[in-house]
Amino acid sequence: HVADQAFVTLATTDAYCMGALVVGKSLRHYGTSRRIVVMVSPNVSLEARRPLEFVFDEVLQVNVLDSGDRAHLSWLGRPELGVTFTKLHCWMLLRYHKCVFLDADTLVLSNIDELFEREELSAAPDAGWPDCFNSGVFVFRPSLHTHTRLLEHAAQHGSFDGGDQGLLNSFFSDWAVTDINKHLPFIYNLSASAFYTYLPAFQRYGYDAKIVHFLGGVKPWHCSFNPQANQDSGSQLDQYVKLWWEEYLRQTPPTVA
Ligand code: UDP
Ligand code: MN
Repeated sequence: HVADQAFVTLATTDAYCMGALVVGKSLRHYGTSRRIVVMVSPNVSLEARRPLEFVFDEVLQVNVLDSGDRAHLSWLGRPELGVTFTKLHCWMLLRYHKCVFLDADTLVLSNIDELFEREELSAAPDAGWPDCFNSGVFVFRPSLHTHTRLLEHAAQHGSFDGGDQGLLNSFFSDWAVTDINKHLPFIYNLSASAFYTYLPAFQRYGYDAKIVHFLGGVKPWHCSFNPQANQDSGSQLDQYVKLWWEEYLRQTPPTVA
């Protein structure tokens, strides 16, 4: 049921809100039939929230420190997992039966509603270690039970990379070997490193990219908008950064209630 399904993203700073806005705008641009939700933390400014209200069906404030109980205890022990714990909040979106999480540094390039045919936990391989999935794009099912177990796992084992990807990979530890249907094609989470490490594959398959992921330290909102970038000049990454800015600056028609 489409009303039970949502795309979800997260922003804990005003800068990441720029990315979240592009996630929302690009999903709308390609006509998703699903709900779109952004989780923001309390420190995010009103100025940064306002544009999100126009694009997203729901702007939810999530507060790790105030959620009391389990999350609070775990948080105190491992402050470095703060943003990770905030991301885990997506498992508490109980009004939805199935969701697709998208990092705020992703850009959607086509309709990707077919992702809802997949099961938890579906994700694409990480370019750096393909037996791990990249946690920038994943299909999941909200569940208090899973949320509790994830927090317990985090408190007990931490995260081998200090972030959500290490935690989620050790929790969903059979991803690499159990069910090929849970391996999303790489075109659903195409990272820039692929252009550099395997250019012929990018040239062969990259035209079909559905989601670009600007992972790493430099995000599109750190780069200046370069309208001159065209097919013949600039790197492939520049092209995607240009597309990101076009989406960021695109006027969104008012949504019909
Ligand atoms: N995030 C956030 N605030 C932060 C860092 C991360 O809201 O200060 C969220 C945001 O949705 C981001 C995701 O967590 O896309 C994962 O972080 P990031 O994309 O920077 O990691 P990378 O994909 O580069 O490893
Ligand atoms: Mn990311």
